[in-house]
Amino acid sequence: MSHSLPKDARFETRAIHAGQGPDPRNGAVMTPVYLTSTYAQDAPTVTRDGYEYSRTSNPTRTALEENLASLENGNWGLCFASGLASTNALMDRLVPGDHVVAGNDLYGGTYRMFTKVFERYGIEFSFVDTTDPDKIKEAMRPTTKYVYIETPSNPLLNLTDIAKAAEIAKNSGTAQLVVDNTFATPYLQRPLELGADIVLHSLSKYLGGHSDLIGGALVGRDEKTREELAFYQNAVGGCLAPLDAFLVLRGTKTLGVRMDRHCSNATKVAEFLSEHELVDRVIYPGLPNHPQLKIAQAQMSQPGGMLSFELKGGVEAANAFASTTKIFTLAESLGGVESLVEVPPSMTHASIPAEIRRAAGLADGLVRLSVGLEHEDDLVADVTQALTAAAKAAGAPAAS
Ligand SMILES: *Cc1c(COP(=O)(O)O)cnc(C)c1O
Repeated sequence: MSHSLPKDARFETRAIHAGQGPDPRNGAVMTPVYLTSTYAQDAPTVTRDGYEYSRTSNPTRTALEENLASLENGNWGLCFASGLASTNALMDRLVPGDHVVAGNDLYGGTYRMFTKVFERYGIEFSFVDTTDPDKIKEAMRPTTKYVYIETPSNPLLNLTDIAKAAEIAKNSGTAQLVVDNTFATPYLQRPLELGADIVLHSLSKYLGGHSDLIGGALVGRDEKTREELAFYQNAVGGCLAPLDAFLVLRGTKTLGVRMDRHCSNATKVAEFLSEHELVDRVIYPGLPNHPQLKIAQAQMSQPGGMLSFELKGGVEAANAFASTTKIFTLAESLGGVESLVEVPPSMTHASIPAEIRRAAGLADGLVRLSVGLEHEDDLVADVTQALTAAAKAAGAPAAS
């Protein structure tokens, strides 16, 4: 059902059309939600178009997998029931004694899976500061199967040089580079073009974009890797449901326009915060003081919609801020049209032990914002009134 798109069709055009096209039978412009578990066959060994059971494949999911492959400039995509189910499929390929070099500032759920699930199976992990390529190199072993990075990382927005990490993985002869591209999205950053082997997404965030589903995806180029991962997708069974695939297809159509506004709104809020006297530091890859600004400019087209900051009053101020905002909803997750605020150490990253969090530079009073698509002036006004409440809570004089 795919459109025959011009080869040089640009990102925004592929976002709307890749993997999709009018139904050849009735002209339906939107890909139907194929709510079916099974498919009629013409003979025990003859399927129609390759479909036999929806855990293995489903036409709505296929459309999304082709769409995501196109957006990441890969050859294939595989969709899973959640971002973590995608990570799980990667880990299912490993055997006891295999080793993974991972960032020391990963999404808390990823860290929890590595340490609480796969270490029990004899998989070994080294968590290192991947912003320094030498640290990755030093951690490599003959048994290393993945270099697993998040850039920008969650919640400290540290950036890893993808091209350098790819070179280290390639030179090892054993490891593939996996990049969790959830924060940047393929509109801002395409790791496969920089040498990564596999891109991972939580579709629950910007790609879905409306905080109404949970999903995950892997995208890559190498066919043998696709076959292995498709085997685990089917054999383990963590596949994306057709209705959720439909919702993500609806989300990717507007990804470019949404990301442009997420980025301009986040820039506005980041600049406002960085000039405010109650704010200790703002972490945003678009600010001149970001420690990896050069990498941001080299591998991202814009700085993204996520930012983190520390308040002078520490945890008390952070909790007061996050409990007082009116437009920013206090909630986990990110990447939806609506703005969200959270305090990672007690919410999304609570599964990481405090001493490990602190060693990685995650302060107890860190506040993370997912800047949405509301009017920028309303967002700044909301942040302003919440800062006043934070100042009171911390016993500091109210801000002017
Ligand atoms: C949310 C998130 C995940 C996990 O995805 P789920 O869809 O919640 O399972 C992985 N990586 C990053 C960076 C995330 O933000």
